[in-house]
Amino acid sequence: MDLKEIRSQFPILSQTVNGKPLVYFDNAATTQKPNTVIDIVNEYHSRWNANVHRGVHQLSNVCTDAAEAAREKIARFINAAASDEIIFTQGTTDSINLVAETFGRAFIKPGDEILVSQTEHHSNFVPWQQIALRYNARFVVFDCHDSGEWDMNDFYAKINAKTKLVAVGHVSNALGTVNPIKDVIDKAHSLGIPVLVDGAQAIQHIPVDVQALDVDFYVFSGHKIYGPTGIGVLYAKTQWLEALPPYRYGGEMISKVTNTYSEFNNLPYKFEAGTPNYIGQIGFGAAIDFISQFEVQQIATYEHKLLRYAEQKLSDLEGVVIYGKSDEKAAVVSFLIDGIHPYDLGVLLDKTGIAVRTGNHCAQPLMTRLGIFGTVRASFAFYNTFEEIDYFAEMLRKIIPMLK
Ligand code: PLP
Repeated sequence: MDLKEIRSQFPILSQTVNGKPLVYFDNAATTQKPNTVIDIVNEYHSRWNANVHRGVHQLSNVCTDAAEAAREKIARFINAAASDEIIFTQGTTDSINLVAETFGRAFIKPGDEILVSQTEHHSNFVPWQQIALRYNARFVVFDCHDSGEWDMNDFYAKINAKTKLVAVGHVSNALGTVNPIKDVIDKAHSLGIPVLVDGAQAIQHIPVDVQALDVDFYVFSGHKIYGPTGIGVLYAKTQWLEALPPYRYGGEMISKVTNTYSEFNNLPYKFEAGTPNYIGQIGFGAAIDFISQFEVQQIATYEHKLLRYAEQKLSDLEGVVIYGKSDEKAAVVSFLIDGIHPYDLGVLLDKTGIAVRTGNHCAQPLMTRLGIFGTVRASFAFYNTFEEIDYFAEMLRKIIPMLK
């Protein structure tokens, strides 16, 4: 991969922050956008904008075709069996709420159980907890080890005939752990239980094949894979999309409406009520085109080298504790420095142009389990460089004595 060429396609990367060249290590929160994404969003707003699906005129048809082409691209990218299995949502959080609300309404009864892991992002925790409360079901959490890896014995002990759904993350946003989701899916399926996988932190880092995984629901956000904000995907097997009731009601999701009843539209539109974020979809499609120029495996290998390099550099510093000790990790390093508040470190790093995230990373149950309130998190994308990590380590070396 030609890094210089890749970086030149992301205009934000060549700017300064606080008078210093930007070092953007907050990619798990959101990724930056290449020119192709920025340009296409601008082009469709300035040249082609018209509402989709219901038009007879040219602009509407152009937008409709481009928005639907994005659905096809995403289906191919994750190897879905059909593009109708791709539902556009506002993002990962919206996708999970869609499944939690509709699955809950259709299938969750008092005494049922919903099983999640201790390491989930709040987006894949709170919706299930609240659905369980609403239907008098049990919300069951399986444990992780101190390393951040799942305690699979606890998973095997807690899944049972009462479990109605398992919801787990592919990659931990807080620690970077790549989780053994295939083992979870295979075990759940042996008991006839469907599995939702939160792919928000996996889709941009590792190849995802939903048919090979045999996963029932797989969700992710456009903005974490170089696309626009406000657009995301719910992939679901056709059998589930047919079995679930609609999420929201309104235009587009109906085929017939009378004073007394309504008939719902075919897939995927049954789950896409109202005017969709069609320009977001088009931008998302451009992001998929962008990333498809590379092998996702090639990206993963490079990012893994960045990760191990950063971990090594951090370990050389006194008082650093790294959280998330797994052989299988995506490009996230979470750490604390003895006696220093993560927030103070984040603020001083910002003064040097380095953007990291501090806090609980929307994973309070995990932080509680690890006995900490938060960490500093540096998360990498394939436009980051070893030189940026050297600079990061050098700045930490200067900042640490100032905060002690
Ligand atoms: N799940 C994980 C693992 C995440 O990292 C995030 C965002 O950080 C989300 C869900 C929520 O994604 P969004 O805010 O795009 O809905």
